[in-house]
Amino acid sequence: MSTVAPDCVFCKIVAGDIPAEVLGRSAEAIAFRDLNPQAPFHVLVAPLDHHENAAASAAADPASLGHVVALADEVAQEAGNADYRMIVNTGAGAGQTVFHTHVHVLAGSTGMTEAL
Ligand code: 5GP
Ligand code: ZN
Repeated sequence: MSTVAPDCVFCKIVAGDIPAEVLGRSAEAIAFRDLNPQAPFHVLVAPLDHHENAAASAAADPASLGHVVALADEVAQEAGNADYRMIVNTGAGAGQTVFHTHVHVLAGSTGMTEAL
């Protein structure tokens, strides 16, 4: 059974109700370009099911984060990025602004922004 939150922007991307540049999708996760990229390659990978953060996803479905990591690697490699960084913000104080679990996948620059 899938979990959806009515006002969640990433649930809307999962449903196709708002547009996104989708780079990959599996039965469990979706990868799409960040609207406001902080690196030449900046993709968000989210489980399809709505949970407010990675810890909540892990508690509800421990395999879900493994599927996210697998898809992150797939889209990074397909784009020619053998090396990349993954960032997971948890909580507003850490910069989380969208409360649907997601991993930032960044590549193509040496610097790292604090703002993510
Ligand atoms: P957070 O700060 O929660 O870790 O990251 C949320 C990210 O989602 C931000 O980097 C922001 O640019 C991105 N974002 C917010 N709304 C949208 C949207 O509607 N479409 C896409 N593609 N990215 C979004
Ligand atoms: Zn959601």
